[in-house]
Order: sequence, then structure tokens, then C-alpha cells
Amino acid sequence: MQATIYKSTGSWYQARTASGEWISCRIKGKLKIDEDISSTNPVAVGDEVILSIDPQTGDALIEDILPRKNYIIRSSPHKRGQKHILAANLDQAWLMVTVLQPRTSTGFIDRFLVTTAAYHIPTSIVINKIDLLDAAAKAIVAEWIEVYESMGYPVELISVKTGEGIETLNSRLRHQTTLLAGHSGVGKSSLINALIPGLALRVQPISQWSEKGMHTTTFAEMFELPYGGRIIDTPGIREFGVVDIAPEELSHYFLDMQKYVTSCMFNNCLHLNEPGCAVKEAVEEGKIHFKRYANYVHILETLQGKK
Ligand code: GDP
Ligand code: ZN
Repeated sequence: MQATIYKSTGSWYQARTASGEWISCRIKGKLKIDEDISSTNPVAVGDEVILSIDPQTGDALIEDILPRKNYIIRSSPHKRGQKHILAANLDQAWLMVTVLQPRTSTGFIDRFLVTTAAYHIPTSIVINKIDLLDAAAKAIVAEWIEVYESMGYPVELISVKTGEGIETLNSRLRHQTTLLAGHSGVGKSSLINALIPGLALRVQPISQWSEKGMHTTTFAEMFELPYGGRIIDTPGIREFGVVDIAPEELSHYFLDMQKYVTSCMFNNCLHLNEPGCAVKEAVEEGKIHFKRYANYVHILETLQGKK
């Protein structure tokens, strides 16, 4: 019997069959795991799996995982040096960010965009809480729109609070499987509640989400949308660690650098201090935003194990 994984809580998984039946299942002891990926979670939300029933206990068991169309992976937030698959079989990813309460760093945005570019997942940036913007925050929004739209990432402005922009999002979610990512507190649960009447996910009061060291779960969960399609909530992403990218490949996943890379004098150029570097030249000419370049250097250092 084939089913789709909607939720994992460690050793138990919630799966849904094509006919809409919900089944709690666990992994069969001798499930063959793809060793190339070696993540802390062998089965991820979005996976298509084959289930069987254990004749002794009557439990549903995951026998096999069907090949993944794609997946998003990051370094495990719990175990150093380990990897965690956020979700699999996505049509698109939405990165929800805010300028105020809290401010999302461009470092976080760029790490996420590198990962989705590496896995060929179309990504949009959704800026929430636009009801809060003052003049200074509006200037930052304008800068983000310019920087990210010019390299091909759609940017949507929304306020879950006032409802502004939600209709556009609805039309873009229809019949798609969408990963919704973003820092804790940006409004992901609020948005999913607005999209799915009657769901009532817990929304954190401001006083709680702003507390440092707050313990949040890192389990993703997928929801059915009333008009067809699915959305995956990924709670509690505090950091997004880039993994599995070779240092010399990194600039290929910076969509604003990509077109200059082939003009560098050396084809293994890391765009640091090499002579004849077309990327650094483009940064100096203002064709690549200097913050993007700074974030590139930072990610490169983490990939090289320097940070
Ligand atoms: P999550 O951690 O990303 O799931 O964020 P939540 O949905 O829990 O929201 C965090 C806080 O932001 C809550 O207090 C929400 O009421 C608030 N919030 C969500 N969307 C908006 C918005 O558009 N405007 C304002 N002002 N607050 C919002
Ligand atoms: Zn270069």
C-alpha cells in the first residue's frame, strides 16, 4: 500500500493513502536507507512510502521509500556534523521573512536560497508583517525587492494580520506542494491558519517567540489545502546550515554571481583574492550587491570548515 508522509515525531510517522485514510506507522527494522544522504531522519515529510502491516503487532510499517523527486537538507540543529532532511518531493519553497519583529538576516535568506538553488527548487520570498513598516523598514523592503527580484526570485508582500496579499498567495499555492520556511516568529503558523479555516495551529505570543533560547520543535508537518495542494510547515528554524555543496560550486548557486563565474581567469576561482576574478569586478562595479558577496564569503568559509 502506498502512502505519503505528512508528519514525523521521531519514531512515529503520520501517513495518508491516496484514498485519504490516515495511518500511523513506523520504520521497519531492516529498511534499506539511501547511504548517500546519511541524514538523522531516513524518512521525511513529503516522502512517498510503501506500507505493510506487521502480522504480530498489527502495526503499519514503512517497507520502502520511493525515489525522491527532490528534497531540502540542512545541517542537523541537534547533532554536529549530521544532516537533516527538512522535506521531500516539493514543487516550490517559500521563504517567509520579516523586517520588523523579528528582522530576518540576509545571511539566513542567502543560505536558504543557496540550498534551494542547489536542489533546483523554485523559491519565492514572502515578506510578512508589512502592516508594521515604518519609513526605515520600507527602505529595507525596497532593497530586498530590488536585489532578489533582479536575480529572478519573486517577492510577495503580505500581512497575515490585515489580509493584504493573501489572495495572491492562495492562487500560487493551488495544486502545488509548497515548503514554508522561515525563522520562528515570522508568522508561518498564522499564515497556515489563515489558509486553512478551522486548523488552529498554535500561534506564539510575541513575548514567547522573542525569548532567546526558546525551545521549539523542529519537526515539519504537511497540511492539505482546501482548494487542492499541500503546504509544509517547518517550525523553529533558527539557523539554516548549508551542506553538501563543494566550495568551488557555491557561486553557481548565487544566481546573481552565476553569469560572471565563467569569465573568471581561473575556472576553479573561489572569487576571493584570485587575479582576473569577474565576480569581484562585478561586486566593485555594484552589479552584485556587496552584502550578497559578504554572505557568499561567509558561507564559503563554513563549507571549508573555517567557521
Ligand atoms: P511562526 O513562529 O513563524 O509560526 O509565527 P507565528 O504565526 O506564531 O506568529 C508570531 C507572532 O507574529 C504572533 O504573535 C502573530 O500574531 C504575529 N503576526 C503574524 N503575522 C503578522 C502580521 O502580518 N502582522 C503583525 N503585526 N503580526 C503578525
Ligand atoms: Zn572569480
